[in-house]
Amino acid sequence: MKQKKWYHFLWLGEILYLILGLCNILFAWLGMLFFSIPIFITIFGGNKAYCNRYCGRGQLLGLLGEKLKLSRNVPPPKFLKKRWFRYGFLLFFMTMFGFMLSATYQVFAGAPLQETIKLLWLFQLPWEWAKVDMVAPWIAQFAFGFFGVMLTSSILGILTMIAFRPRSWCVYCPMGTMTQGICQLKNRKEPTAYGRTSKGNCRTTQTTSQ
Ligand code: SF4
Repeated sequence: MKQKKWYHFLWLGEILYLILGLCNILFAWLGMLFFSIPIFITIFGGNKAYCNRYCGRGQLLGLLGEKLKLSRNVPPPKFLKKRWFRYGFLLFFMTMFGFMLSATYQVFAGAPLQETIKLLWLFQLPWEWAKVDMVAPWIAQFAFGFFGVMLTSSILGILTMIAFRPRSWCVYCPMGTMTQGICQLKNRKEPTAYGRTSKGNCRTTQTTSQ
């Protein structure tokens, strides 16, 4: 049996992050690690090591789908793999991220703090219990907005895990698309018809096998 390494347990970090954000919204800031680490690894390593080895979310979806058999385990629709869809979704995601930053700036400039979480970019959920008063309102506003982004992507990941294969989210995950683009630029490799499954360093082994 293959020996477990420390990074095989990073899925626990994903669960812990969501629980901490439920208790105290400031923990949402920790999610910046999930944003910056993959980019640093790809820029300096020129590979997809984060997706293939260190991503707690990918691991968690794999565990839920394979070990707990929560996935229907059928191939995802072909359009999810298409370049136009993956980069379109990345653009949409980054636009929403920009709106979140704009809301943070408005609170910094004096607008009232909105103690809500926006789910799936549509539904405003009250989230007052997780607020703390010790920090400047804009710091809390960023945390509310960012936790909404993380929760939304987690829900999409779980829904696509249930509907298709365990790691179908990885096919169109904005972070995966972004690191794939950086990796291909660094390695000057042309993407294949299947987008992120190009040969060499930019190969995402987990995604292609599932
Ligand atoms: S594609 Fe996204 S969810 Fe999947 S392993 Fe990469 S960063 Fe994690």
